[in-house]
Formats: sequence, C-alpha cells, structure tokens
Amino acid sequence: MNVVPLFTDRKEASTLWHDVINWWLDSSIKIRFVEIDDEYWFIMGSDSQRPESNFSFFKVLPKSENYERFKKGHGGEAYLRLGVYATKFLKDVKHDALCNCGHAAEDHDKSDNDLCLYEECKCKKFSTFQITLLKRKKTITDIAFLEEKNVKDDSLAWNCLNTNKFSKFD
Ligand SMILES: [Zn+2]
Ligand SMILES: [Zn+2]
Repeated sequence: MNVVPLFTDRKEASTLWHDVINWWLDSSIKIRFVEIDDEYWFIMGSDSQRPESNFSFFKVLPKSENYERFKKGHGGEAYLRLGVYATKFLKDVKHDALCNCGHAAEDHDKSDNDLCLYEECKCKKFSTFQITLLKRKKTITDIAFLEEKNVKDDSLAWNCLNTNKFSKFD
C-alpha cells in the first residue's frame, strides 16, 4: 500500500525529497500513526547518517476510510511517495471528470458559472482535487499505530508530540 503525504506546492515536495528523504535508508524510515479522538497524527522520520537530514515530518489529519483501510491492510510494508494536489476547474478537465459534488463535468453548466445541473445539488461551481504522485519512492517497514497514552515508549512519536502538541496546549 502507498503512504502519500500531500503537498500543495510541487517545488516544496521535490525539495523535501531531494534534500532529506532521498538520504534516508529505507530500513531507517519510521512512520507512526497516533490516534487522538477523531484525528490521527501522521509522523515520519529517520535516523540517518547525515545529521542535517535527521528531520521529522508530521501532519494532523481526520481519520478516514483510507486510513482505516491502510491500518488493516498494510501488512507491515508500505511505499512512501509524495503527492502534489491541485484544484482543477471545468476548463481544465475532461467531460467525465468528477466534481467534488459527485457529479460529472458534463453535468455542469459552462454558460452559468459552471453550476451543477442536478436540481438537488448545492454545487455552484465545478471543482475537483487532483493528485499527482512524484515518481520516486521508498519502502517503509517500520510502521506503528499508537494511542496517545503509549507514545512515551516511542521516541519519534514522543519527540514530535512533545514539541508540537503538549507544548502548545498545556
Ligand atoms: Zn459540482
Ligand atoms: Zn452536483
């Protein structure tokens, strides 16, 4: 399965890969998922040979179907790739592309501000997220799911929450 941290800026994603992740040995990469209520913290890091690329990355995300699927199905291994997402509008897509409202591009009215034609739909303008995956990938085998009460036993998760959560909210 894939783990795909998302970025809005392609340059930022490429730079992170080139300057940091590229130097990580696959076997040294750790990812942690710390569940806190309806959210989870995705934390990724590595102890590499180059101290300047010892860096950890985190994002707080809502639990989702994708997340649950990954949790059940990863089998101890995942590919890490970076993704870049962009919002596309009606002029950018093919007629069968799906809008965020769930209806196809061809069901939106070009002559009326790209409004969705389905009567019951509240969509006022076609838009859709598109994700482009960067080509390079790493294989991760150190994957753990934690609850907040267990993070003390995990140095990567503990350092991240300590710096970014507890310090802010305590
Ligand atoms: Zn729509
Ligand atoms: Zn619609």
